[in-house]
Amino acid sequence: MIDLKKEVQYVKGVGPARARSLNKLGIYTLEDLITYYPRDYEDRSIIKNIADVQDGEKCSIEAVAVSNINLRMLGRYKSIEKLIVKDETDTCMITWFNQPYIKTQIKRGEKYRFFGKITIKNGVRELNSPVFDIIEKNNNTGKIIPVYPLTYDIRASDIRKAIQNGLTLAGKLNEIMPEYILNKYNLIEYNEAMNQIHFPNDFESFRKARKRLVFDELLSMQLGLLRLKSENEKEIKGIKYDRNVNMSDVINDLPFKLTKAQLSVLEEIDKDMEKEKPMNRLLQGDVGSGKTIVAMIAAYKAVKSGYQVAILAPTMILAKQHLTNFEKILGKYGIKCEGLVGGMTAKQKRLALEKIENGEVDIVIGTHALLEENVTFKNLGFVVTDEQHRFGVKQRSSIIAKGKNPDVLVMTATPIPRTLALILYGDLDISIIDELPPNRKHVETFAVSRKLEPRINEFVKKEIDKGRQCYVVCPLVEESDDPDAPKLKSAVELGEEYKNEIFKDYKVEVLHGKMKAKEKDEIMERFKNGEIDILVSTTVIEVGVDVPNASLMIIENAERFGLAQLHQLRGRVGRGEYESYCILKCNGGNDLIRERMEIMTKTDNGFVIAEKDLELRGSGDFFGTKQHGIPEFKIANLFQDMETLKEVQSLAMQIISQDLYLEKEENKLLNILVKKRFTTKAELTI
Ligand code: ADP
Ligand code: MG
Repeated sequence: MIDLKKEVQYVKGVGPARARSLNKLGIYTLEDLITYYPRDYEDRSIIKNIADVQDGEKCSIEAVAVSNINLRMLGRYKSIEKLIVKDETDTCMITWFNQPYIKTQIKRGEKYRFFGKITIKNGVRELNSPVFDIIEKNNNTGKIIPVYPLTYDIRASDIRKAIQNGLTLAGKLNEIMPEYILNKYNLIEYNEAMNQIHFPNDFESFRKARKRLVFDELLSMQLGLLRLKSENEKEIKGIKYDRNVNMSDVINDLPFKLTKAQLSVLEEIDKDMEKEKPMNRLLQGDVGSGKTIVAMIAAYKAVKSGYQVAILAPTMILAKQHLTNFEKILGKYGIKCEGLVGGMTAKQKRLALEKIENGEVDIVIGTHALLEENVTFKNLGFVVTDEQHRFGVKQRSSIIAKGKNPDVLVMTATPIPRTLALILYGDLDISIIDELPPNRKHVETFAVSRKLEPRINEFVKKEIDKGRQCYVVCPLVEESDDPDAPKLKSAVELGEEYKNEIFKDYKVEVLHGKMKAKEKDEIMERFKNGEIDILVSTTVIEVGVDVPNASLMIIENAERFGLAQLHQLRGRVGRGEYESYCILKCNGGNDLIRERMEIMTKTDNGFVIAEKDLELRGSGDFFGTKQHGIPEFKIANLFQDMETLKEVQSLAMQIISQDLYLEKEENKLLNILVKKRFTTKAELTI
C-alpha cells in the first residue's frame, strides 16, 4: 500500500488541471479520492433482447449496427446522429445529439453494447443518447456503474477513471478494524469493501461493502463521543446542592399539578444536583409539555443553595416571557430575576451587569447578550439553555465557562429519537417529558389548497369576532430571486394585502426577523395584550411564545416547512381554554407533500412527527446539518442505518467500559480510527 496522503494530481489520468476540479469537490489527496463514495449506482449489467424491453425501461442491449451513422448538421454546432441496430429479436433506432464524432466510433456490421432508456413509439423501439462499448470492453456498460456527485467541470467518466486508477495506485489497503469485530459482526475486509463500494460486482457485494464502511464510520464516531463523556464524568468536581432545599416547596405552591413526567424528570434533576459531579442533562419535551416550570424549580434549588442561575433563551421575546414567568412564580420566595438582552440601553445594561457581578441578582435571563465577555457572575452554579438547537455547541460552552463547573440543563422541543440523541448529544444524559398537561387542547389541523382561501378568510373573521387572535406564518420575508418566488407570498406582502383589503376592518401587524429587536418586541407585546387581531410573521414566532388567546395558526406555503417545524408552529396555539385550529395552506401537491401534510393532520405527537419527517426527508435535511453541530457522515445515513447504529452503540459502550483509552492490543486499530475522526471533527461534536 502506498502513502494515501499523496496529492491527487499524481494519480494516473488526473494531472494538475483535473486536480483543481477535484479540489472543488474536497478531494486533495489519494485518500480523499478513494473515500469519495458514489451517491448512487446504475445497473447496466442486465442485457435484454430488444423485443423484450418495455417502454421507458433502462437497460443494456447487444446489437449489430445495420446502418452507417446518419449525420445531419443543424447549423454550425448542432447535429443529430442516427443509427439502426438489430439483434436476433428486433431492431432499434438510436439517436444522439451533437456528438458527430460518433461517426468514427461505430462501424456498420459490428456488434456493440448500448445502455440507455428505451421508448416505444408506434411500435418502433428507440434509444436516445445511449452510452456504448464494443462487446469485449466493459467501460460504460455491462456492469454496475457508480454515480458520483459532480461539479460542472468534471465528467462522470473522468471521475470514475480517476477513482479506478486511484484504487490501483493505492494497492491493497491495510485493514483498519480489529479482527474480532469483523468476525463478530460478519463484516468484509476493508480492502474489499473499498473496491466494492466503487465498482460492485453485484448488489449483494455493494450491500456488504456499504455495511462495512457505515459500521466503521458510526463506530469511530460513537467511541469518540463516549470517551468524551466518560472523561467529563471522571475528572470534574462540581457543586453539591443543599439537600435541605426542597423542590416540593415550590411544587406545592403551584396553581396547577405537575404531570407525572414532569415530576419524574425533576427527581432525576434533583439527584444530579445533589451529586458532586456536574449535571449535564438534555431535557426533551414536546411543545407545551411544560419544560419551563421544570427549569424554574431546579433554579429555585440552585438559588436557595446559594448560587446564581443563568437562563439562555434564543430570542428576546422568549427571554422576556421567561423573565415575567420566573418573577411570577419565584418572586415570592425572595428570588431576584434580571433580564439581559441585546436591545438594552448602555445604562440599563451597566446596572444589570453590576448587579450580576456583585450577586444582587439570583437569576439572569437573557439572549446571546449573556455570552458576552463583560458578563461576570459572582457565583454561577446552574445554567439552562432553552431550545438548544438554536445555539451552537461553542456557545453552550462559553456560558458554562462563566461558572465553576456549573450544572447544565439543556432544553429542547425538537423531539429526537433516543438513538439519534446519543449521537447528537453523546455527552449528555437524557430526560424526556412524554406527556402533556391534562388541560392541553388538541389543535384541529387541516391541509388545504389555495382554492379554499375565501372560506378560510371568513373563518378567521368569525374567530376574531369571537374575541380570538390569529397567527399567519409565511416562509419568506421579501421578494426573492427564488425561481418559485411568484408562488410564494412574503410576510410583508401578505401583511399589506390583509391590512388594505381582506382584513381592513381588523388590526393586522407584520413581524419578521429583519426588524429591529425593539420593534419586534413591541409588536409581540401588543399581540400578547390582545391589541392585534392578526399577526403576519415569519418563523420568528416559532419558538416558545405563549399567547393563550390565540386560537388560529395559518401557515402559508406549508409545503416549504419541515414537519418538525410545522409542529413547533402549531404548538403556538391551543395554549388556552379555546378550541384551536391550524390551517396548512399548500401550493401544488405531489405525493410527498400530500403524505407529509397528512401526517400533520393525523397526529399531534412530536416524536411520531419527527420520526416520520426523518423517514421522508433523511437525516441531513431533518437537522439542517452543520449549524446544529451534527457530525457529518461520508457514507452513513442516520435514518437508513438505524439498525447498524444500534449495533454500534452497544458495541461502543462495551468497548469503552473495558478500555476507555483504547489501549489494549486488540483495540489499537480503533484508537487510530477514533483519533483520525476526532482531529478533524472534534470541534463539531464536543
Ligand atoms: P414548553 O415545554 O413548550 O416550553 P411551557 O413550559 O412554556 O412549555 O409550558 C406551557 C404552558 O403550560 C405554560 O403556561 C405553563 O405554565 C403551563 N404548564 C406547565 N406545566 C403544567 C401543568 N402540569 N399543568 C398545567 N399547566 C402547565
Ligand atoms: Mg419552552
